[in-house]
Amino acid sequence: MASDVVGSARDASELVRLRALTDALTAKVSELEGRVGGEADPVERSDELHRILAANLPGTSVFLLDHDLRILIADGEAIRRLPWFDADMFRGRLVAELDGMIPDEVLELSLSTYRAALQGERGGFDFLSEGLTFSVQAVPVRDDDDAVESVLVVARDITEQTQAEQQIARQARQQMAVAELGRFALETHDLGRLMAEAVTTATTTLGVDGGGILELSEDGRNLTVVAGAGLPDGMVGRHQIPFGDSANAGYTLRTGEPTIVEDMTAEARFKPAPFLLKLGVVSSVTVPILGQGRSFGVLDVRARAPRGFSEDDVAFLSAIATLITVAVERHRDEQAARHAALHDPLTDLPNRTLALDRLAYAVNRRQREGIDVAVLVLDVDRFKTINDAAGHAAGDEVLLVLAGRLTAAVRSTDTVARLSGDEFIVICPDVKGTRGATEVAERLASAVTGRMVLDSGEHAFTVSTGIALAGARQDTPESLLRDADAAMYRAKARGRGRYELFDAAMRIEATARVRIEADLRRALDHGELKAWYQPVIDLATGSAVSTEALVRWEHPERGLILPMEFIPVAEEAGLIAELGLQVLEQACCQTAAWQQDINPELGVSVNVSGRQVIAPTFSAQVAAIADRSDLRAGTLALEITESVFMEEADSPATVLGSLQEYGLALVLDDFGTGYSSLSRLKRFPLDSLKIDRSFVSGVDSNADDRAIVKATIDMAHAVGLTVVAEGVETREQEERLRALGCDLAQGYLYARPQPPNAVTDLLALSAMVIRPLL
Ligand code: C2E
Ligand code: CA
Ligand code: CA
Repeated sequence: MASDVVGSARDASELVRLRALTDALTAKVSELEGRVGGEADPVERSDELHRILAANLPGTSVFLLDHDLRILIADGEAIRRLPWFDADMFRGRLVAELDGMIPDEVLELSLSTYRAALQGERGGFDFLSEGLTFSVQAVPVRDDDDAVESVLVVARDITEQTQAEQQIARQARQQMAVAELGRFALETHDLGRLMAEAVTTATTTLGVDGGGILELSEDGRNLTVVAGAGLPDGMVGRHQIPFGDSANAGYTLRTGEPTIVEDMTAEARFKPAPFLLKLGVVSSVTVPILGQGRSFGVLDVRARAPRGFSEDDVAFLSAIATLITVAVERHRDEQAARHAALHDPLTDLPNRTLALDRLAYAVNRRQREGIDVAVLVLDVDRFKTINDAAGHAAGDEVLLVLAGRLTAAVRSTDTVARLSGDEFIVICPDVKGTRGATEVAERLASAVTGRMVLDSGEHAFTVSTGIALAGARQDTPESLLRDADAAMYRAKARGRGRYELFDAAMRIEATARVRIEADLRRALDHGELKAWYQPVIDLATGSAVSTEALVRWEHPERGLILPMEFIPVAEEAGLIAELGLQVLEQACCQTAAWQQDINPELGVSVNVSGRQVIAPTFSAQVAAIADRSDLRAGTLALEITESVFMEEADSPATVLGSLQEYGLALVLDDFGTGYSSLSRLKRFPLDSLKIDRSFVSGVDSNADDRAIVKATIDMAHAVGLTVVAEGVETREQEERLRALGCDLAQGYLYARPQPPNAVTDLLALSAMVIRPLL
């Protein structure tokens, strides 16, 4: 017989109400007594009273006790809800005689309260029994002499009211718990701690035996216990159950609705997870932790006894689940932002920042543990060519494939990162000296070299690799990266598709290169690049028929800089197109002036790098500049090298063809240094061949050179090409060339490249046909 006292006298208004009631009763009793002539039969009197009370006070039970606390009346609908209440047994007994028939506590409180009432004190108490809460009030009933004659006891069933109050209190407690957890969620960035805190909040607030959070794996196959209360050690973070309808967690997550189990032994919807059964869990509530896109998992609480869970309990757990969802999403957003800040959006490889960070870590570790750290910078050879010719989408595709191949070729402890455009960096935090580093370089090169068949077509590449090994104590991530970069440039300069190890001489070169690039941008803006000219002589007449424009950099501090020093930088830095246009513009204007003043037939040839030709705007820009100048039609030639024809794409041929239709002549420069045969060159719309200086210099002294030059001239003439010899320095060379039938010549023998004013004088002289000029 469980009983519990839950309160003392209820509020004052109730007493006032009771006071009014006793007054009414007293009046009624007096009236009855009057009617039965003062000798009222107690039984009749009590029955009558009972009738009145029961009629007037539904939900209330009434006891009337005499001054010995003998029960005169004991009945009422409310009290009959208690199984131990028995009106017939109670009536006529002293309250003290109820010992053993009613709960001890109720008896004790009754006696003390009623005794006080006999002393004229109003009082009361609450008790809880059989799940019901009663409020008991005792009021002294006085006779005409104002002495206490009897005690009127009113017991009311306040279960509903109490439950409502308890519910409000519980809700308030739950709301506070949720608010508290919410505050914690905002403060912490540690998702693990939040999960643990959430479970604690859920279990302590609901007063259950245990609880936990299960997280759905990314592949959606498993649920892992990520936080728990009342679980065996070592289970959190490790224990997994398969995701599916068979267990309540999976069932809840799939339906997206809370699942309440009041008694697991009677559960039919699914088989509870074995670990729950092992824990002796009998009842539980599981709520889903949903999320936009991907759901996180479930939160559950459980008890070892059958137990019901109210809507409030479920709402409370759902509120916690929502908090977790918000925190998880915030966490995911933060992670995504952090990831984005440290990764390259195209390939998802670490970016420069993260690479430098990892490198710093490796360098630190190296100093502690004496291991070798290698940094490799890889640059895709002629990547810009592919990008310009096949489009950015193709370029992106190539980079993605390369990123994958590079990553697959290194160890998991190595880092592959994308520095910029077509530049990758590989950090090996533990290699065996230079040998180990070069082995990595070779492995990487063979992983990316070769044909690649992509949506955009077939591509073939090589990479140029620069290697730097952390050696000196003062090596920093930045200095290592710079060194590897310098070595990479050396590899490119030495013919691409190879690797170079950094050495000290490169450091100087690299710093110079960086300075040149920065200076060059300024130079282009300030017009520091000037076209100089070298006359081209007709070997038959000895007069200048055209000039070759050769760019010079008139650097404000360093003086004159030759093209070999800055043309490769301009090509790598993407400045060559702008540079080329500036030279072309100057050459066209200057030559138009010379045509006007000296020789209307004078031609000009301008050097064009391969990078320029494949740019889609190239031919339109050339045509626009030629149009703008007053250059006579048919007097402009472009000089291109064989490498332009080696490109995979057909676009150079198309571009050059359209330029030729426009009236431009095409000169193949440096002939003999490349691999192309004349037959292959027939595919291209050429007008002239320029024999490279290396053959010209030996034409008078070396039989092989002479043979090559002769064969070249003969074959060129056979296909209708004019032949120019460049780098003619001696009279002997000139004689030989003329004898072999060479058409035109240029070289120091006639004139060095010079600024326009100086050339004006030379041309004026040449127009008078004075040979040789020097
Ligand atoms: P290139 O087109 O083969 O130009 C001929 C180079 O030989 C020029 O060097 C010229 O000064 C040099 N040269 C001429 N005659 C003689 C000689 O008798 N003996 C010797 N030893 N050298 C002679 P430069 O001006 O230093 O130009 C070097 C290269 O730079 C050029 O080789 C060309 O490929 C490139 N270049 C020059 N100007 C431009 C330009 O405006 N645009 C582009 N894309 N490249 C240019
Ligand atoms: Ca040239
Ligand atoms: Ca040349």
